[in-house]
Amino acid sequence: MDVQLSVAEENNLLADSPHPPPLEALPPAEPLPPAESSSMEPEADIHPVEPTPSSAEPSQPGAGKCPSLPPENACVWPGCTIRRVVNMRVHVMGKHAPSCLKPLGRSTRRQARRHLRILEQLAVACMGEGTTLQALMIRVNRERAQTRGTPHSSQGSMPKVYDAHFHMDRLRQGLGVSFMANLGDLERAEPPRGDVRPVSVAGGIAVYCDPQTYPTTREINFITRDLHLNVAVGVHPKQSLTSDQFDRLHSLSRMSEVKVLGEIGLDHSRPPSDWYRQEGLFRRVLNRCYSHHQHRVVCLHLRGMAGDPTAEECYSRALDILRLSRIPREQRLLLHNYTSTVSIADAYRRHFPATYFSFSLAASGFNSQQRQACRHIEAMDDRRLLIESDGPHFAPAGQRVGAPHLLWATAAVVGEVLGRDPRRVLDLTWKNGRDLF
Ligand SMILES: [Zn+2]
Ligand SMILES: [Zn+2]
Repeated sequence: MDVQLSVAEENNLLADSPHPPPLEALPPAEPLPPAESSSMEPEADIHPVEPTPSSAEPSQPGAGKCPSLPPENACVWPGCTIRRVVNMRVHVMGKHAPSCLKPLGRSTRRQARRHLRILEQLAVACMGEGTTLQALMIRVNRERAQTRGTPHSSQGSMPKVYDAHFHMDRLRQGLGVSFMANLGDLERAEPPRGDVRPVSVAGGIAVYCDPQTYPTTREINFITRDLHLNVAVGVHPKQSLTSDQFDRLHSLSRMSEVKVLGEIGLDHSRPPSDWYRQEGLFRRVLNRCYSHHQHRVVCLHLRGMAGDPTAEECYSRALDILRLSRIPREQRLLLHNYTSTVSIADAYRRHFPATYFSFSLAASGFNSQQRQACRHIEAMDDRRLLIESDGPHFAPAGQRVGAPHLLWATAAVVGEVLGRDPRRVLDLTWKNGRDLF
């Protein structure tokens, strides 16, 4: 099949990628790189099927040396013939092959044309001879609209969930999926098992706090516009920042799409010799990166010393720092993975009435003080209650990771503490999460 494409057609098709480069902006053709995989993309253990001899597609240099690439990368491997790439994609992904094609991102004109030729042949392979590119575009758009931001299991009467805190970058790495994977991809990589019932992820906050994996502008746009999630950018108190990394954090935190600053805070599970540094970093981020008009929420990570699960000294110190940094009283705070006491909850509510308390699967090990605090927060104002997976951490029993689509397990644990049905916990926290922004 040799379809001649007009520039308009090419642009239309490319426009279906989340953030395609306009063709006019593409640089002149240049030698292809060995592979266009990101360092954030671990290689999947998927072996391509044997190539089918093709008369229309002569072998390119390096053919036969194709490594085990994730199928979404295959289209950019220059050693593969297009026929081989198409066979492999159809073999691995079946009818989803066209819509799973990796977005182009930064690519040369030659790569863009190769991408289009793969799409043409996928159209024939998946939809039969005589299929037009336009028909393929309609189908791909429809499939993406169904899967973007909504996992496959989200149809029907499954409860909606709001995950107040999870790490998209760590989760993708932990599951070995593409760095542009959506929520449906995460669910396919780690489906709910055992007592964990399927839920529909309807919102949440994807947290980026590791300078090595700070998101690109493209990724932030993908998370916010395509997945309909909020993005938090901060620095975990266990991390240190070089001056370049701090500048990067500063510029990311000032992007209008970033409505959550965090996670930031104090982690006293580290030796006391590190506390002074952590405090300096916490103050610096609040002073330089925080914007009252932009940041609807400030997400705080607060952990106590070993053997001090309620960590009152750590929560109190952080409260002092917030006040000394002149954070406005009306600022929404999100105390992620809350583990402290009634008196700490009241102290935060007194100084920052819009404080939200988010509970994780750690609630399964709560002592009586912590259980009392959870019930107290609900009794005072249940609109301030949230739940989180903190994925990939806190894996429910039988699962490899914690993740937004596994949030039923957290709701069951928090529901047990509160004496509420998990569905009611999910419903309440979904509404509370929706009201955050
Ligand atoms: Zn944390
Ligand atoms: Zn976290």
